[in-house]
Amino acid sequence: MIRVGINGYGTIGKRVADAVRAQPDMTVHGVAKRSPDYVAVGAAEAEYPVYAADEDRTDGFREIGIDLAGMVDDLVAESDVIVDATPSGIGAQNRPLYERHETPALFQGGEDATVAEVSFNARANYDEAEDADYVRVVSCNTTGLSRFLAPLYENYGIEKARVTLVRRGGDPNQTGRGPINDAVPDPVSIPSHHGPDVQTVFPELDIDTIGLKVPTTMMHLHTVNVTLENAPEDIAAVREQLQDEDRLLTIPEYAGIDGAGTLKDFALDAGRPRGDIWENCIWEESLTLEGNDLYCMQAIHQESDVVPENVDAIRALTGHLPGPESRALTNETLGIDS
Ligand code: NAD
Repeated sequence: MIRVGINGYGTIGKRVADAVRAQPDMTVHGVAKRSPDYVAVGAAEAEYPVYAADEDRTDGFREIGIDLAGMVDDLVAESDVIVDATPSGIGAQNRPLYERHETPALFQGGEDATVAEVSFNARANYDEAEDADYVRVVSCNTTGLSRFLAPLYENYGIEKARVTLVRRGGDPNQTGRGPINDAVPDPVSIPSHHGPDVQTVFPELDIDTIGLKVPTTMMHLHTVNVTLENAPEDIAAVREQLQDEDRLLTIPEYAGIDGAGTLKDFALDAGRPRGDIWENCIWEESLTLEGNDLYCMQAIHQESDVVPENVDAIRALTGHLPGPESRALTNETLGIDS
């Protein structure tokens, strides 16, 4: 059993904890949290041992009836692997703590790529994490793009990829984010930082990206144009290729799923935890081939697509299972693609 400690129990951390708990070969040793709030109460109710991240706030946990299992230092010492899911930039500050205890760690996509030896996507470069002690699971957008581009790269070669990312303004619990009534170039400079982030997974890939933010909390939406080196005659071949991939869902026309709202409704109807959608959602009708140019639109659920990737990264880092077996086990235990 791999003992996993989760440092930072927010949007990503709580989902990763539940996903780890669902695995037969790992256990949640505990979760470290900074604020004694409703999420901390949820962790205690889920019977995760709670560790405090901040000495000054330990009394706050006791006041709301949470018996602390220790401090974050104890969690790091007692765990085989740490998943750092603290806010962007805090992960890099935490790395010396993990080094001091010689505990391998995963970081998230909000950190610079320099925080770890490898920027990880389970479909694209699982094996590269096998000899690493520190791995960064790339961001929600980079995860979605890596999954989509990997099979195209392998089967047809990619001359150039061009992507526009229509990004959600914030997560549902981020009450202060926006815009609330606007469409904002973000970043206004072109290309955006997303392309270089994809290149941390595919160093040779030629990719340009443009980003903007819109008033929704549901999902990101990507419009993708990939110029293939050796395009097939017919889009049907690409469609079948993508449908054979795990973690890529193609949305058929008959489903009547016309946007992120209906996708989320579908996920809630299907009883998915928190309405999560771990897979890329590709509109089948949007898959189009014009000569060598492939086009499509896909939606990415920012709060959850990186969750199975974290589970696989734990196995890659600990040398526990080969990539295809890990992905299959993660998919089966979480109910992905079903
Ligand atoms: P979040 O703010 O929802 O959660 C972070 C948690 O860490 C909070 O519970 C906070 O109280 C806690 N925390 C703050 N400082 C801490 C510290 N010093 N020690 C321990 N815990 C501390 O953030 P999030 O959205 O879960 O993002 C976490 C990471 O995941 C970031 O790198 C982010 O870029 C990345 N990410 C986020 C999303 C998303 O859409 N939310 C998607 C993919 C990747």
